[in-house]
Amino acid sequence: MKYIGIDLGTTFSVVAYLDELGAPKIIRNVDDENITPSCVATINGSLQVGQRAKRHAHNVPEEGAKTFKRKMGEQFEYQVGNDVLSPTDLSALVLKEMKLLAESKIGEIQKAVVTIPANFAHEARDATMHAAALAGLDVEFIINEPTAAALYYAYAEQEDLFGTYAVYDLGGGTFDISIIKVHNGDVEVLASNGVSQLGGDDFDKKLQELVKEKFEQETGKDFDPEDFTEFDAEQEKITLSQRKRTTVQIGRSLIDIRREDFEEALSSLVAQTEMLCEAALDDADLEPDDIKAIFLAGGSTRMPLVLESIRRVFGKDPTSTADVDEVVAKGAALYAAFKSDREGLSDVQSRALDKIQVSESTSMCFGTISRTYNENREEYELQNSIIIKKGEKIPVSVTETFYLAADGQKSVHCRVTESRTTEKNPKFVKIVADEHLELPGGAEEGDEIDITYSFTE
Ligand code: AMP
Repeated sequence: MKYIGIDLGTTFSVVAYLDELGAPKIIRNVDDENITPSCVATINGSLQVGQRAKRHAHNVPEEGAKTFKRKMGEQFEYQVGNDVLSPTDLSALVLKEMKLLAESKIGEIQKAVVTIPANFAHEARDATMHAAALAGLDVEFIINEPTAAALYYAYAEQEDLFGTYAVYDLGGGTFDISIIKVHNGDVEVLASNGVSQLGGDDFDKKLQELVKEKFEQETGKDFDPEDFTEFDAEQEKITLSQRKRTTVQIGRSLIDIRREDFEEALSSLVAQTEMLCEAALDDADLEPDDIKAIFLAGGSTRMPLVLESIRRVFGKDPTSTADVDEVVAKGAALYAAFKSDREGLSDVQSRALDKIQVSESTSMCFGTISRTYNENREEYELQNSIIIKKGEKIPVSVTETFYLAADGQKSVHCRVTESRTTEKNPKFVKIVADEHLELPGGAEEGDEIDITYSFTE
């Protein structure tokens, strides 16, 4: 049986499968690369995905779209040449490309798992499932990126993981920090925090700004972004991960960029990641010393500045692997097979999965808006009542009892709310569903009404 895992990333996507020996392997793309840019462009009238699309979108921006994962679940439209596409449509095109790639290498695929950031809101989660269906994938499960990464490290480290770990994921477009607990092979996300607008792309922009500043200072001329694009900036950024300085040629001028100047320009972005790490530790009620190891994911964790920042926050060296860009996809491939009925797996594949167990927890609070008596103010007011708390182990089902407000009430107004904290004020929570449910006749004030929320895998 063929199982694949797809890391649908903001800047790059990766697909992995479980080989005959039960090891997750990357499927290389048409350019013989392990990672494929999550870019779509119209080239000669047809929609294309990947490196060619990235180049085309760079040269003719109105014919391309990128970083659309940041808009998943939102009402947003991209004009790509003559097509108007939603973030879901664009993600479906990337997923389809990954599926075709996998099929061309390993044949028909039975099951796929797609990953999402742990802090993705409900709509973004649904939009991802929808994109997978549009791409023709049989996706029963999605898995949080940090859980997938942890799963891969658990598998790759060979020895059993036991205790509390952090997964630090800094890719091209998003940053995520998750605190996980591994107990008898069971991976539980205790806390997760992140921002969907912070990553390597932002570092590229900062480097472009730095080059602009230096060029204008040194030459007195105006900087033309075409002379040193974000594309060029990305290449120089990667150079600065290996070397302490680099020289950029703009026209006839040579601009010297030192790593320390670049790092200085990134300080506010890195400070933001540090605050989020500290907040995640707080949420999990842990001190840095409680963290046994920090697992890295995402290409930007190759930067010396990032490694130094992690050491500063956690007081120890992180655990890395050469393939930080691939750990999420490989973990997802393991999970796809792990969640299968195992009947299609060979004995060797099955044995490879025996050590793994995974459970996930909710990354948001879900509640409803109810009328509650405020004793201080001696009046009724609307309040957000949390039903499923953040951090509940998935799958979870919770029933809360509410009371009817009036005799002869004909319906109840049910609003499903989502919030990052146990927020009571309805103004500060997001409404993710809004329905009027009919009641049978003869209802009286004070009658009980049970509301059950279930969060499935
Ligand atoms: P990912 O989404 O995990 O594939 O990460 C992609 C991001 O990692 C892009 O912004 C890349 O420019 C960045 N990246 C990859 N390798 C390096 C490196 N050696 N130094 C700095 N950034 C890197």
